Amino acid sequence: MSLPRLLVLSLGGTITMTATAEGGILPTLGAAELVGAVPGLAEVADIKARSPMKVGSASLTPENIAAVAGEIRAGFAGGFDGAVVIQGTDTIEETAFLLDLLVRDERPVVVVGAMRGPQQPGADGPANLLAGARVAASVAARGLGTLVVLNDEIHAARFVRKAHTALTSAFVSDMAGPLGLVAEGRVRMLAGVARPALPALDPGEGPLPPVALLKIALGEDGRLLRAVPDLGYAGLVIEGAGAGHVPGAVAALVGEVATRLPVVMASRTLAGPVFERTYGYPGSEIDLLGRGVLSAGLLTGVKARLLLSLALAAGWDRAALADAFAAYG
Ligand code: ASP
Repeated sequence: MSLPRLLVLSLGGTITMTATAEGGILPTLGAAELVGAVPGLAEVADIKARSPMKVGSASLTPENIAAVAGEIRAGFAGGFDGAVVIQGTDTIEETAFLLDLLVRDERPVVVVGAMRGPQQPGADGPANLLAGARVAASVAARGLGTLVVLNDEIHAARFVRKAHTALTSAFVSDMAGPLGLVAEGRVRMLAGVARPALPALDPGEGPLPPVALLKIALGEDGRLLRAVPDLGYAGLVIEGAGAGHVPGAVAALVGEVATRLPVVMASRTLAGPVFERTYGYPGSEIDLLGRGVLSAGLLTGVKARLLLSLALAAGWDRAALADAFAAYG
C-alpha cells in the first residue's frame, strides 16, 4: 500500500535552531534535515520537504502565512494528503488560525514546533514532528481544519494558545481542551471542533489591512485609543477587562473610534465569551455594544485581529463581520 503524501514546509523556530559563533541559537536547519533526523518518519508518509523561510516566529508576517496557505492549497490540488508546517512556537496560535481561515479543505494542516532546540537535552522537536506527521497523514484528523501538535497533544487552531515560555507542555486550549492525542504512534481523536462556514477570504497579493490590538489595564486613560484612527489602522481589537469592559471614563471615546473604524472587543482573560447582556454601567459590554463595538465571541484578541484583517481585505461589510464573529461565539 502506498504511503500518504505529505507536504512539509519549514519556516524556522527553535525546532530549527542551533548554536552559532555569534552567540545564542539561530534558525539554521531546513525541512529536509529535520525530516531526515526523525527515525520512523519515512514509514509514516511519503514527504516532500521545503524550507521557504528560516526565521524566529515573531518575525513571520500574515502575508508570509498567506503565501504558505497558497502553497498548501496548490499542494492539495496536486494530490497531497496533508500538510505539516514547522515553525517557532511563539506565534503558532496566530499562524495556525490564519491557515485555518485560508485553507478550507478536508485534509489536515498541522503546525508543529519545539520548546527545546535540537542540541538541548530532551529536545522535543523530533517527537513533535513525528506526531504531527502522523496526525497530518491520518484520516481521523480530516475535516478538523488546521491543528497544532506538540507534546503529543492535538489542538484546534481556533482554541490553541501558548501559555508558558518554557515548558514542553506550553500549549493549551482553554475552553475546549485538546481534541486528541498521539499515543503508541496512534492518532486518537477524542473530540471534534466546529469550523464556522465563512464567506471566502482572499488576502490578495499586497499587505493586509493593519489592525491594532490594544489591551485595557487599570486606569486606562485613552491616550493610545484616541490616537488609533489617525495612525492608518483599518480596524481595532480591544482586549477588554473581564467579559469585555473598559473604564467608564473612556467608553465614549471607544464609541467615537467605532464610528471611524471597526472596533472588536475580546477579553484579556483569554477564555470565555465576551458578554452581551449582563452589565449596564458605562464601559460595560451592553454600553459598548450599543456604541457600535462588535464582539469577538470566544476568539482571543490576537486571533480576532487576524480575522478582522482578512475580512477587511475581502471587503466584508459590518453585517458580515458581525456574523463571522458571532459564528465564533
Ligand atoms: N521560542 C520560539 C520557539 O519556540 C522561537 C520562535 O518562536 O521562533 O520556536
